[in-house]
Amino acid sequence: MRALTLIADRRLELADAPAPAAPAAGDVQIRIRAVALNHLDLWGYRGMAFAKRKMPVVVGVEAAGEIAAVGPGTSAFEPGAPVVMYGALTCGVCKPCRAGRDNLCESVGGIMGFHVDGFARDLVNLPERLVIPVPRGVVLRDAACAPIAFATVQHMLFDNARLEPGESVLVHAGGSGIGTAAITMAKAIGCTVITTVGDDAKADKARKLGADHVINYRTDRFEGVVRKLTAKKGVDVVFEHVGAETFNGSLLCLKRGGRLVTCGSTSGPSTTLNLMQLFQQQYRIIGSFGASMRNIRESLAKMADGLLPVIDTEVPLTEFERGLARLESRQVFGKIVVDF
Ligand SMILES: [Zn+2]
Repeated sequence: MRALTLIADRRLELADAPAPAAPAAGDVQIRIRAVALNHLDLWGYRGMAFAKRKMPVVVGVEAAGEIAAVGPGTSAFEPGAPVVMYGALTCGVCKPCRAGRDNLCESVGGIMGFHVDGFARDLVNLPERLVIPVPRGVVLRDAACAPIAFATVQHMLFDNARLEPGESVLVHAGGSGIGTAAITMAKAIGCTVITTVGDDAKADKARKLGADHVINYRTDRFEGVVRKLTAKKGVDVVFEHVGAETFNGSLLCLKRGGRLVTCGSTSGPSTTLNLMQLFQQQYRIIGSFGASMRNIRESLAKMADGLLPVIDTEVPLTEFERGLARLESRQVFGKIVVDF
């Protein structure tokens, strides 16, 4: 079978690899059909100072496929069934795992495609408990965007920021994979969405996607525009993932008692914080990473109801690096999917 392996920083190799053995008891074997790209893939590809990992590692953190075979004692899946997979090897038995808080697992065995072998290969064996059925009507290209992109946004907006219908939300980098998902999910429950983008072509696309107000952050200071749009009140929720460049401006955009939820720091990991502003304005700042199995099921249900991911580009497996380059260049609106 084919496997795409990171052998050194910025060096991928597509090669033949031995196919996995028949699935063991409690495991299923999945034939991968689509891998969706995320910033996590870029972090892995470029190398990351503080991430403990070993190379070579099969890349691909988010994917969809079909059940190829089932091991003894598995019951939930028939061969051919469309599925997505949880992207981290959770233990399944610790207290958070048992409570359905999978992304807080106390003895996680690593993130697939980053710490341990991922999904960019033809066949993968996994415990059945980490596999989630794709509802009828959702194509695998779209389903591939559920485990990380959609589920991360679902977890951020609804579990963490507790976004309610009618509230206002500022979505940073509205053209990104998670930005596009956040715009559509917030609009779907009747929120007012303000978003930032880096060029006018993306601004048009964000408006078409439903954003009520679009700010080109290269020509306008987003915090000033948000204050103006909200009559100086600020928004209820800020959806952050840009990091150092925007974090303090994001706080200035918040209403008193507002919530900032963040899952990323693509522009840099450190910032300073005005503590008086934090407590006087009664902000709530919430860190969010990954999602639960439930969030993935919720994401797929939304897709089945017609809330689909925005697909920027599809590339074949041989052009995985071209997909990464496109993601790195930020010349992207929505998700990049690698087809098998
Ligand atoms: Zn656990």
